[in-house]
Amino acid sequence: MIENILSRLEKVKGRNGAYTACCPAHSDKSPSLAIRELDDGRILLKCFADCSVQDILGAIGMDMNDLFPNVNSDLLRVIEFEAWVVSVAAHTMSTGKKLSDTDRDRMKVATARIMEAVKYVG
Ligand SMILES: [Zn+2]
Repeated sequence: MIENILSRLEKVKGRNGAYTACCPAHSDKSPSLAIRELDDGRILLKCFADCSVQDILGAIGMDMNDLFPNVNSDLLRVIEFEAWVVSVAAHTMSTGKKLSDTDRDRMKVATARIMEAVKYVG
């Protein structure tokens, strides 16, 4: 929730999803942090002194999950689906059948997607 973030910042100004505030990650006398809330609920932070988003969030006791409320559940759905693809292939192999080239390529895609999703979360 953007209110959650705004309530932890100093000198907040703005409305309708676009705000400025003092950046908590560096000593900021005039507000140099821009905060935007997108229609899908994601929140963007930009410090004009180039503090990283992680530093900004860390300074107010929050993390990336607070900015992207739906990301983790979306990624879990991706992982769930790809894990199912892999388990179908594993079952095929366990019955002694060989995977077709198409299936083998699909397995590579599944593995790559899972790795990519994990990287995103971590
Ligand atoms: Zn900053």
